[in-house]
Amino acid sequence: MELACPDDHIRPQRLEDFIGQEELRANLAVYLQAARERGQAMDHTLFYGNPGLGKTTLARIMASELGVNLVCTSGPVLERGGDLAAILTNLARNDILFVDEIHRMPAAVEEILYPAMEDYSLDLIIGQGPAARTVKIDLEPFTLVGATTRLGLLTSPLRDRFGALLRLEFYSPEELARIVHRASRILQTRVDEEGALEIGRRSRGTPRIANRLLRRVRDFAAVQGREVISRDIASQALERMDVDEHGLDQMDRKLLEVLIHHYGGGPAGVKTLAVAVGEEVRTIEDIYEPFLIQRGFLKRTPRGRVATARAYKHLGLLMGA
Ligand code: ADP
Repeated sequence: MELACPDDHIRPQRLEDFIGQEELRANLAVYLQAARERGQAMDHTLFYGNPGLGKTTLARIMASELGVNLVCTSGPVLERGGDLAAILTNLARNDILFVDEIHRMPAAVEEILYPAMEDYSLDLIIGQGPAARTVKIDLEPFTLVGATTRLGLLTSPLRDRFGALLRLEFYSPEELARIVHRASRILQTRVDEEGALEIGRRSRGTPRIANRLLRRVRDFAAVQGREVISRDIASQALERMDVDEHGLDQMDRKLLEVLIHHYGGGPAGVKTLAVAVGEEVRTIEDIYEPFLIQRGFLKRTPRGRVATARAYKHLGLLMGA
């Protein structure tokens, strides 16, 4: 049930190559140094934030900074307690176990994790019925690094067992432009300042999207026979891909349009909206909403989602019309 750890040559390998998230990076640098000096496993760490903001990358960086192995798995693939026990017993001293989507781990698996996190031990039940007995197995000290989209999705016993809870924020267009520059050097493509900033502005605050848009814009530039990605080339390519000047894509706009045209701008429940746009509730909550809320296009109220004046303006509509 162990998965191959995601890797690509664009992913930063050291903390100093990781761009943005200044506060988180400063804290992490202190924790890493302290663990290195003590020669002990680092505290269990939870990263939370939208997909594509760098949680997996940070887990990899932690392992390389500490000089330990990174072992990867994810909540939904750990179906039975035994799956997790097998991984835990194979860890070497101070290794990092990365569990992506840790909130999707079944309850029975989560319970195995509690003693493992607290005292590096496993309580295994051997046999069945009256003859069953519990055997305690010692594990090597290890660090659990969990990733989740929202902190509130974790049960509190699990959350309380992490020593560090670190939140990843959306990136600014300038930070994303630096990420685009870095990636363009690795991809051996040229992008000027304005071109990088244009891609940065339209990447929904997310490095994964910035890297993806860079690749597509690079293709577009190549087909046009342009050697350097300029602002002009970037915006032409992004228009073609239906990514507008705020980085909103077709689904973002569809969500706002449905909310405004079918529900008078809201409030409307997320389930209702999901059905209307033909998307899963979880995808809307994890991917689309956080960005629309952060950029002031959408508000979450106790009665449902509401489109803001900014959403009307962006879609060229009059409020209350
Ligand atoms: P998550 O685990 O949060 O979904 P990832 O760590 O997989 O996100 O990051 C997605 C991609 O974005 C990676 O390929 C990585 O190269 C890039 N990336 C993420 N954060 C940064 C950053 N701060 N600096 C440079 N590249 C980054």
